[in-house]
Amino acid sequence: MKNITLADGRKITVHCLSCAIVEGTVQPNGGTIYETKFFHAHQDVAYPIRGLVILASKRHIKCLDELTEEELNDYIHTLHLIRKAQRKVLGIEQVYYFYNEDTTHHFHTWMVPRYDWMYQFGRSIESVRPVLLHARRKRNYKDEIEKIIEAIHALKNYLNTSN
Ligand SMILES: [Zn+2]
Repeated sequence: MKNITLADGRKITVHCLSCAIVEGTVQPNGGTIYETKFFHAHQDVAYPIRGLVILASKRHIKCLDELTEEELNDYIHTLHLIRKAQRKVLGIEQVYYFYNEDTTHHFHTWMVPRYDWMYQFGRSIESVRPVLLHARRKRNYKDEIEKIIEAIHALKNYLNTSN
């Protein structure tokens, strides 16, 4: 089991956070953004960044090569669709994508939008951890959370009506 502190201060204990979110035992901020037969999209529960979307598989697998052909098609199309929504609805110009297979959770891709405030931490991969921690420590306030929730609703609306 793993102890996790969520951005809103809730402390939870889960076997696999991705399973808990996909199954609905842990509610991410703003709820489900988008769902397909094989994937589940939601706001990151630990780091408050507007438009940061996590795309998790519904199946408890760890590695990309474990995806079936059908899941793989669904994955790339869903990733592409969410990226379009981030640009169209939130004006997000650039996104960093992350996935590591040695996770304690299961298969999930982080779609981390880049904002001007992030460049104080540099570019590329080395900036990501400081950016996430900064968001959690310094940008975890009411106005910012409200913007994040608004962004989730905008994404949801776009993704669930225009397709
Ligand atoms: Zn899992």
